[in-house]
Amino acid sequence: MKATTQRSEWHRTACILCSVNCGVEVQIDGGHITRVRGDRAHPGSKGYACEKAQRLDYYQSSRDRLQTPLRRRADGTFEPIDWDTAIREVAAKLAAIREAHGGETIFYYGGGGQGNHLGGAYGAATRKALGSIYTSNALAQEKTGEFWVDGQLYGRPRCHTTGDFERAEVAVFVGKNPWQSHGFPRARAILREISTDPQRALIVIDPRRTETAELADHHLQVRPGADAFCLSALLAILIEEDLLDHDFVTNRTSNGEGLFQALRTVPIAEYCARAGLAEQAVREVARRIARARSVSIYEDLGIPQAPHSTLNSYLSPERIPVPGAHRRTAARHAHRARDPSPTRTRARGVERRGYEAAPRGTRAGA
Ligand code: SF4
Repeated sequence: MKATTQRSEWHRTACILCSVNCGVEVQIDGGHITRVRGDRAHPGSKGYACEKAQRLDYYQSSRDRLQTPLRRRADGTFEPIDWDTAIREVAAKLAAIREAHGGETIFYYGGGGQGNHLGGAYGAATRKALGSIYTSNALAQEKTGEFWVDGQLYGRPRCHTTGDFERAEVAVFVGKNPWQSHGFPRARAILREISTDPQRALIVIDPRRTETAELADHHLQVRPGADAFCLSALLAILIEEDLLDHDFVTNRTSNGEGLFQALRTVPIAEYCARAGLAEQAVREVARRIARARSVSIYEDLGIPQAPHSTLNSYLSPERIPVPGAHRRTAARHAHRARDPSPTRTRARGVERRGYEAAPRGTRAGA
């Protein structure tokens, strides 16, 4: 940013504080972002920007932010060096490691994965030049269970899914408060739209009475740590009341009978009680999900940061074939290649560990 830029001039850019990456316009003065507003021309966010975007300059200009590369001295302290020197020295050390041990011994961590994807594009080129084949990112700290379940369901963990909440008839949030954490474009506007439309429904499964729960048609205020009982009971009701999409089960799934049989043994009333929920409330939620023309479901950090997180990901209702959950539109779909686990790429002819790649953009159930 140049200090000479006119203050009143708006510049189009994107917010990088979360994965939604809303389009924003900013004014700049003296190298600082002084004003921020949503970019109405942005096709995804359509002028929406949450309050966090107003703090972009705080993050951009933090006094703790490094202004120059630092090189460690022999005594353990750091000295500032210029970029050309830093890049030349780091490149030489990486090249030496590659020559001595092979590029696959260089592990790459980062490249986006959450809000800041800027490093991703450059990271891919760097990895290719080095021959680095093992990667991971920040999602490894929080989404491993969910990715593992996606791997079991879709054939590989990179096939992570998201919901089309803008168009879904029923939106379900499990351990998530999008009023604050967003996670999809125009979150607050969409939540208001769903909550005021009598043809649509907002369902929240969360121990907390969050802002999203305040708007919900159904709030299952599950006992903390008892999500597995709640989710098991929910799935068991779908089986017991025969609310599944049988065409989908027959034509698009395999080996489901073992799961269905296990769910038939779930003591629904007892599990609801252990989850601190009225059985009737859980049944109403199951029926509303099952009769929806389209349903989008989002589990978030309330699941991975609670006990039995991988089990809860496995039990998430988004993975059970109800009629509205596997549509091409307004349901859920693969949204990008995100993989928190160290894997091998196929680019260098190395056998891939784990899961074979599915075409990018493959839609669930399509
Ligand atoms: S939802 Fe908020 S934090 Fe996320 S990208 Fe948009 S403005 Fe930034």
